[in-house]
Amino acid sequence: MSNPLLQKFKSKHTTAPFSKIKNKHFKPAFIEGIKRAKAEINTITNNTEVPTFKNTIEALDFSGYTLDRLSSVFFNLNSAETNDEIQKIAQEVSPWLSEFSNDIRLNEKLFQRVKTLYENRKNLELTIEQNTLLDKKYKSFSRNGANLNDTDKAKLREIDKKLSKLSLQFGENVLAETNAYELHILNEDEIKGLPQGAKEAAQLLAKEKEKKGWVFTLDYPSYVPFMTYVNNRELREKLAKAFGSRAFKHNKNDNQQIVLDIVKLRHKRANLLGYKTHAHFVLEERMAETPEKVLSFSDDLLVKAKPAAKLEFNQLTSYAQKDGIEQLQKWDGAYYSEKLKKDLFDLDQEALKPYFRLENVINGVFKVANKLFGLQFNKVDDIDKYHEEVKTYEVTNLKGDFIAIFYADFFPRKGKRNGAWMTSYKSQWIKDDENSRPHVSIVCNFTKPTETQPSLLTFNEVTTLFHEFGHALHGMLANTTYPSLSGTSVYWDFVELPSQILENWCYEKEALDLFARHYESNEPITQEIVQKIKDSSNFLEGIQTLRQLSFGMLDMSWHGKDPTNIDNVKDFEASVFADTRLYPDVAENCMSTSFSHIFQGGYSSGYYSYKWAEVLDADAFELFKETGIFNKKTANKLTKNILSQGGTEKPMALYKRFRGKEPNTDALLKRAGLLKK
Ligand SMILES: [Zn+2]
Repeated sequence: MSNPLLQKFKSKHTTAPFSKIKNKHFKPAFIEGIKRAKAEINTITNNTEVPTFKNTIEALDFSGYTLDRLSSVFFNLNSAETNDEIQKIAQEVSPWLSEFSNDIRLNEKLFQRVKTLYENRKNLELTIEQNTLLDKKYKSFSRNGANLNDTDKAKLREIDKKLSKLSLQFGENVLAETNAYELHILNEDEIKGLPQGAKEAAQLLAKEKEKKGWVFTLDYPSYVPFMTYVNNRELREKLAKAFGSRAFKHNKNDNQQIVLDIVKLRHKRANLLGYKTHAHFVLEERMAETPEKVLSFSDDLLVKAKPAAKLEFNQLTSYAQKDGIEQLQKWDGAYYSEKLKKDLFDLDQEALKPYFRLENVINGVFKVANKLFGLQFNKVDDIDKYHEEVKTYEVTNLKGDFIAIFYADFFPRKGKRNGAWMTSYKSQWIKDDENSRPHVSIVCNFTKPTETQPSLLTFNEVTTLFHEFGHALHGMLANTTYPSLSGTSVYWDFVELPSQILENWCYEKEALDLFARHYESNEPITQEIVQKIKDSSNFLEGIQTLRQLSFGMLDMSWHGKDPTNIDNVKDFEASVFADTRLYPDVAENCMSTSFSHIFQGGYSSGYYSYKWAEVLDADAFELFKETGIFNKKTANKLTKNILSQGGTEKPMALYKRFRGKEPNTDALLKRAGLLKK
């Protein structure tokens, strides 16, 4: 009985042997994989020699190879080509895996070896990368309470238990409130302005609920088109208020007390572990490093973007006056923005698509990678794959050296989740003088070809492809020693730099000329269209910036200060929003009670990252603007200092080596057209 997941992959470049893997192989493979990983950990902890970097830290980082590879195969399949059986297996094995990682985290013998090394790190003569790895391993224990005495350890576990319950409850309440509401329309006149597609969806929803007419809900696919297109202002107000008052109605689903409990418990937890606040705890492992830095970056952007935002708001207000509106309200924003945008730019997304035939765009992104980094993508057919639609490439550099395997999976299928992402089947590392190269994949859900038409991408899909390809480059160009520091294994607020910087090439005529040609006439895209794309992408950027900043500031206010004395969620929130407010406050609404990003998911003290990443990519791209967007020297600098370095060093140090300075907000403000206003 041979299980392909438990043997060394003998395929070319040790790629995953998809065609040999059956669903029945997974569970026994996980059991055996965990067993092998445990045995490797035991070898480390039972070693009678004194701990050394090699016999402890390095051994730990290279342990669990079988488990890692089979996990990446399994969980990637669960995202890209899943079925009931795979989902069932996932449900079963996920607890095994968390139990296994908990066991490591709580392994006292292992921690003592790591700690001995950490405390003696100055005398170990480690390289920068080794130091980073030691620090990372040590923190994975200490940040989970390994240094606490037994009483405090018990306290921490108690807090963690309460917190996970509260977050779960928070999410359930938001969901219950979202599901409890529907807007039922019987008179078609009331939803005038709504596009046909959205109307049909609402009709279908009504049918499902065995109702006549149209039903709208607070789910985004229903809510967003309604707020953007429906002419009826009273109904927009009604729906907006329903949306904004979720979990803020003093009923059984109310989240106000839960918000207060969560922030206070997080604060306590941080204090227990020796941190000033929860934000200090989180930001220790971020490029931004401290809440003070996040706040000064936010304030800087706010001061510079606010005048532009006010001008835009006035422009929008006077535009709405033709409908007799004196005071623009929250439920008018999306509606008039869309109308004004159409008036100003009239950029027909459908008319753009013929310039972006999928095959041309892929070749375009390969050409860009070739011009910048000297990479060559050779399509090959002898790599095993999980679905016939997947394309496989062998990537080589200028010298012809093998760099990576690249998988690309473009079209929607039953069994593939929504969205687009980059992932990998094998990371990169160097061991015994061998540089073991990575297997990287991008998975998308692009418009499919039809019998009469090839796959033509929207401009949004084009930037998505460049974005995911940027992540893929981060994986493919990786050149580090240790697997856990390789490629995209970097801090959260740094990981979007390679992806977002690559999107910039989509707005440059010189780059578009490489691939953006009409698929029938072969005409290149015109400068006029490119300018229109740029202008419309910056439309109302001031208002958008203020909105994003306000969410980030709310997050940081909840988590960056001692929350002990906060007792009213709405009042606290209102005081935070005072600086960024454009629309009048709505008394019966509250953002925090449904702010799932920070109270349910793992994004607390992290919301700023969206803007932070934009600042970074604009600032980094500025160097290409200055030296030429295909300047090889600049591209080399990017590879040498960032794309190849993974998480081997603090991101700010890597960034400064590339850019020669710390990032600032000027390039972003310039790109967004906010500086000249
Ligand atoms: Zn991304």
